[in-house]
Amino acid sequence: MGIAISAAQVDPRVVSFLEKPRQMLINGRWVDSVSGKTFSTFDPSTGEVLAQVAEGDREDIDLAVKAARKAFDDGPWRRLTPSERGRLVWKLADLLEQHLEEFAYLESLDNGKPLTVARAADVPLAVDLFRYMAGWATKLEGHTIPISVPYTPGAKYLSYTLREPVGVVGQIIPWNFPLLMAAWKLGPALATGCTVVLKPAEQTPLSALLLGELILEAGFPEGVVNVVPGFGETAGAALAAHLDVDKVAFTGSTEVGKLIVHAAAGNLKKVSLELGGKSPNVIFKDADIETAIAGATSAIFFNHGQCCCAGSRLYVEKPIFDKVVDGIAERAQKIKVGPGLDAATDMGPLVSEEQLNRVCGYLASGAAEGAKALAGGKKHGDKGYFVEPTVLVNTREDMKVVQEEIFGPVVAAMPFEKPEDIVPRANDNVYGLAAGVWTNDINKAHRMAEHLRAGTVWINCYNIFDAALPFGGYKQSGWGREMGRDVLDLYTQTKAVCTRLG
Ligand code: NAP
Ligand code: MG
Repeated sequence: MGIAISAAQVDPRVVSFLEKPRQMLINGRWVDSVSGKTFSTFDPSTGEVLAQVAEGDREDIDLAVKAARKAFDDGPWRRLTPSERGRLVWKLADLLEQHLEEFAYLESLDNGKPLTVARAADVPLAVDLFRYMAGWATKLEGHTIPISVPYTPGAKYLSYTLREPVGVVGQIIPWNFPLLMAAWKLGPALATGCTVVLKPAEQTPLSALLLGELILEAGFPEGVVNVVPGFGETAGAALAAHLDVDKVAFTGSTEVGKLIVHAAAGNLKKVSLELGGKSPNVIFKDADIETAIAGATSAIFFNHGQCCCAGSRLYVEKPIFDKVVDGIAERAQKIKVGPGLDAATDMGPLVSEEQLNRVCGYLASGAAEGAKALAGGKKHGDKGYFVEPTVLVNTREDMKVVQEEIFGPVVAAMPFEKPEDIVPRANDNVYGLAAGVWTNDINKAHRMAEHLRAGTVWINCYNIFDAALPFGGYKQSGWGREMGRDVLDLYTQTKAVCTRLG
């Protein structure tokens, strides 16, 4: 098998990780798939094969679920104190931090994102998430509840609630932030005492597999975390439908989210979903214009637009429209597009040929419907999956490029005249993940925050994430909130205990 990179370019530990076919983690051991099959993962900056990975399918998922079931029902995991559990999660964070460089290289190679970004954002955010969640392990409290019970006059009761882990959790994640999405899923599951079968995206399985090594090194008991790479239609579907899985947590497209809901119906497992978005970013004329231009540029181009919360519908108050879109276009043209490992790169390739074709299809559709590209508008270069950062004007709400999620570096800009018209326009979409507001009028800012139907509203900033801040969608952007204290609701269930006192 040829590796598409040279040892001179990358951390040597990463080269040796890529040299041998990667196995899957089931019941504390690295194993081949039952079928013996493997699949290739690619470097999107060249299209060349990076590594071979064991291809999990129904039988492998079944073995992993059995291991997770056993670990949950009668393994040492259930007997750990909350403090011991929290310390294990914290230890995983420490190990991840020690291996930051390897993870940054692996993420850049497998996903295409700039190494500098993986180093500064993806890996540190994952470390922080594990530390934040480690703290919750010791704070999962129930309540004592005074009750009245009208039909037992005079009786005394002691009633309280217990907050218990939901059980075996199937977790299915996408390719846009491979390690960070694994952390968002694993952190709360482990802090609350659940056990896990994780299926990473087929395009980017590597960082989850390296994380599996750290999970073993940290000392999690066998079967607590199982990592099964494979394809969505096979391994993913088997996990979502498995009757011994108590909950499925999914991040990905709204289309697949609906399939997950159907698959989960067999045993009515709990479901949480982080889905797509087409987030409005609204700039008022009283905003600090230069700050808003810089903010709107990064709102769409960060991670090559492959963010579920990308600020992809830009609404600008008419008197400043030209100035703002020209400013964004000028910045877009200066973005250096290139391989993630190149230190000069601001924006890497899209993750796959499929995504490249999908985004180029939207560019063609926008052009056919009359949109004009002030910057970009086409594929970049002839090797790898690069697209030019694109700013579209002459766009209308009925265009596909305004209604549908592109998941690439393409923003559709539209002017608005009356501030009171902007809320219905911003809310006119099936998604409701995030929104941005740029204004110096504090009253306007918070009125907008109240009326926008989105799970996150950023005011005079965008793409600000923190482990303590809940994230998730209104409408078809999903069910439930990840991160913050809210995520604990997704991984615990409440038991009411009622005692009659003599
Ligand atoms: P996707 O096709 O929905 O895939 C997401 C995950 O689901 C992958 O692991 C995939 O496996 C798996 N999958 C596919 N079909 C499945 C099935 N029938 N049953 C069970 N699992 C299945 O999405 P994507 O193309 O990877 O990611 C892009 C989309 O995800 C965008 O629409 C974006 O908005 C959304 N997203 C949302 C968030 C959020 O937080 N709300 C975050 C990131 C991405 P394979 O890899 O093998 O296909
Ligand atoms: Mg890849």
